[in-house]
Amino acid sequence: MDTKKAGFNSKLIHAGGFKDTKGSAVTPIYQTSTFSFESADHGAACFAGESDGYIYTRLGNPNIEELEKTVAELENGFGGIATSSGMAAVNVCYLGLLSAGDHMVSHNAVYGPSRSIMESLYPRFKVESTYVDATNIDNVLNAIRPNTKVLYIETPANPTIGITDLKAMAKIAKEHNLKLVVDNTFCSPYLQKPLDLGADIVLHSMTKFINGHADIVAGMVVTKTEEDYKLLKPIMMNIGCNMDPHQAWLTRRGLKTLAIRIERAQESAIKVADYLESHPKVEWVLYPGLKSHPQYELGKEQMSGPGAMISFEVKGGLKSGKIVMNSVKMALLAVSLGGIETLIQHPASMTHSKLSDEKQLEGGITKGLIRLSIGIEDVEDIITDLDQALAQI
Ligand SMILES: *Cc1c(COP(=O)(O)O)cnc(C)c1O
Repeated sequence: MDTKKAGFNSKLIHAGGFKDTKGSAVTPIYQTSTFSFESADHGAACFAGESDGYIYTRLGNPNIEELEKTVAELENGFGGIATSSGMAAVNVCYLGLLSAGDHMVSHNAVYGPSRSIMESLYPRFKVESTYVDATNIDNVLNAIRPNTKVLYIETPANPTIGITDLKAMAKIAKEHNLKLVVDNTFCSPYLQKPLDLGADIVLHSMTKFINGHADIVAGMVVTKTEEDYKLLKPIMMNIGCNMDPHQAWLTRRGLKTLAIRIERAQESAIKVADYLESHPKVEWVLYPGLKSHPQYELGKEQMSGPGAMISFEVKGGLKSGKIVMNSVKMALLAVSLGGIETLIQHPASMTHSKLSDEKQLEGGITKGLIRLSIGIEDVEDIITDLDQALAQI
C-alpha cells in the first residue's frame, strides 16, 4: 500500500512496508551482516547505487530501511538515517553540519549529553557554541555570530518543560543562513512536526516514545532535503553508529502503537497534572496542558497535544523530593521517558546530584523538582501512588 496520502495511524501500521516472498504479515528479521550478490555485475550495480540490492548491514538492511522510511514519512521528511542511539543521531548532525571555525547556538536546557559533548569534545576540533534560554527569541538573536552555522533546539525542554517557538526559530535560521536542527524526542511526530514548522533536520532518541517499551536504545535523523540526507547518511555509515536488524525490528514494532500509547498517557497526564496542581504539598506544576504554563498558547499552536511529561516542585525541597522517591510503589525510579510504564525522577538527588547548586539552578533544577513520565497504567493507580507518597512529606 502507498501510505503517502494515508492518515497518521495507517502510516504507523503500514508505512515503510517490506514484502517478503513468503507473504508474512510482519517483516522477518534479516539478522545478517552481509548480503550475497547474484553475479559480479549485480555486485557492481549495488556498489554503484544502480541497484537497490543490499550490500552490508552497516550500509543498509531491510529492517533498518523499513524503520527509516516509516519515521521519515511520519515527520514529512525526505529520508531517515537510523542510528545506534539518540546520542549517535545528535553526533551525526554535529559532525555533518559543523567544521573547524564554526559556531552553534543552542538552548541551555537541551538534553545533558547533547550539551556536554559539544562543550567538552568539539572545542578540540575548533567548534564553538553558545547556550541561551531559547524560549526568549532575543537571546537567540543576540547569540548569533558571523560564523554561526547551526541552531540546535529541543522543545519542550527537559526537565523545565520550556517551549521554544519553532516558527520563530525557522525564520531566524532562514535569515541568517543557519541549519535548524530540532530534537523532537519529547513529542514524537504524533504531537509535533518540526519540519512542517520550518526546521531542516529532526532527530530522535527512539529509545523514548517511538519505541515506547523501554527495551532498546536507538536514534534517528530525518532530513527535509535530499541534499542534507546525502550529507549525513555517509557519516552514519562510516562512523559505524548504525542500528542492528533486531533493534530496528523491535523499534518498528513498538512504533505501531505510538498514537494509542500517547493518547492514553496524555489523557492520564492531564488528570495527574490537575491533581498535582491542586495538592497542598505541591508548589507548582509545569505541564503544557495547564493554563498556568507560561507558554500555554504557544504549546497549543505548535503541538497537537500536551504530551505525557510533567514536572512539579514539592514543598520542602530536597528532603521532600527524596521522601516522594522513596515512597512511590508503582512508578519506577528511573531516567528515560516515553515508555508504557510511569517513571519518576528527582534531578537534585539523582541525575544532577553531582552538579553544584549554581549549575543546577542554571539548568532550571530546583531542589524539590520531580519529573514524571506518565505511562499507560490505570490513571487511578498512578494518582493513588502519588497521593500516598505525597502524604509521607
Ligand atoms: C534520551 C535523550 C537523548 C539521547 O538518546 P539515547 O537514545 O539515550 O542516546 C537525546 N535527546 C533527548 C531529548 C533525550 O531524551
